[in-house]
Amino acid sequence: MTRLILRPARAHRIRGGHPWIYRSDVAALEGPWDPDEAVTVCDPDGRVLGRGFYNPRPQIVCRLVTRHDEPVDDALLRRRLEAAARLRRTRPPPDGDAGRIAFSDADALPGVILDRYGGTLVLQALTRAMAGRARRLAELAAEVTGAAAVYRRGDPTAAAIEGFDDAEGWLLGTDRTVVEIREGPCRFTVDLAGGQKTGFYLDQRENRAHVAGHAAGRAVLDAFCYTGAFATWARRQGAASVVAVDSSPDATRQAAAHLAANAPADGGGPFEVVTANAFDALRGLERAGRQFDLVILDPPPFTRRRTAIDAALRGYKEINLRALRCLRPGGLLATFSCSHHVGPGLFEEVCRAATEDVGRPVRLVETYGQARDHPVLLAVPETRYLTGLLLEAVE
Ligand code: SAH
Repeated sequence: MTRLILRPARAHRIRGGHPWIYRSDVAALEGPWDPDEAVTVCDPDGRVLGRGFYNPRPQIVCRLVTRHDEPVDDALLRRRLEAAARLRRTRPPPDGDAGRIAFSDADALPGVILDRYGGTLVLQALTRAMAGRARRLAELAAEVTGAAAVYRRGDPTAAAIEGFDDAEGWLLGTDRTVVEIREGPCRFTVDLAGGQKTGFYLDQRENRAHVAGHAAGRAVLDAFCYTGAFATWARRQGAASVVAVDSSPDATRQAAAHLAANAPADGGGPFEVVTANAFDALRGLERAGRQFDLVILDPPPFTRRRTAIDAALRGYKEINLRALRCLRPGGLLATFSCSHHVGPGLFEEVCRAATEDVGRPVRLVETYGQARDHPVLLAVPETRYLTGLLLEAVE
């Protein structure tokens, strides 16, 4: 059996729950290497810390699948999927028929993302070993969940880093790649093959319900709206008017359709969907003196790298500053960061700096995280990537 021996002082972090072994953690690899056979990870004294697949190509050369000296086979993967499904049952998700079933390391399934959209599953296999098992994973996932069809979404970045064939398509069964899902009172159309992420921002489900709970009677701005899920919820819950902005024309086309199709019983307030850079749109709205009672800012991660944090912070500060200037007294700002590099502490600091520049005190009304079915490992800050604040401009 091939053994990966860690350098002295590197075992502590792994023992504490971090499953990633970086190239610089490795003292030696003893035995033959096969990308599809798990290696046994040991501390310098030979004590077993767990097992995982080794790949010399990426910086993270091994991610633990188990903390025991046991086979990493189909039976183990099935147990992992069953445990992941059980976890979602014990902490029931919000009302709807879409959600995440497996969240990679946080479910001890490194490199495996599994989302459910009604009766269809979408699988992302993001490590070389999991990509090699994509079809088997799809079969196991279908058995565990009862789903009839599994679609594989690619990820060119992971494929290049890990060195695997980034094939997209049906792994099991075939169905439509454009599906309709239900989320609370809303229906959304999701493009599993062409949409962002696996088609939808499932991680914002609870937050959309919370934020929309404040929408009744308010003039709402949803910036970085994607297919308009926050805007649609807000209008459905009685918003007086809605403006939604995204730079992707595909997204805004869909947002307009979602807003129209999910009108409340009384027909709903007017809505406007704008295809634009949100930085420019916010500047334009501010210049035009437009005022809102609820602004939602859900930008993409402004940085995926630690080295670019300063630029990201400037980006977050600018949009929050402009949003604050567009808020009526008593207005609410629901603002998010989905970069784990800009977590709760830093994000609060940036929002505080924005309020100071605008000269507008705000009250912290609610704090948000990612949906419950995107669990967080305390030892792995990367798993806690979504932070949100609901701020109220003090009258
Ligand atoms: N709130 C959405 C998810 C937003 S994801 C939901 O609940 O579904 C971030 C969105 O920002 C993406 O749709 C992306 O197209 C958009 N985006 C990225 N850069 C942008 C920019 N500079 N201006 C406007 N939109 C941008």
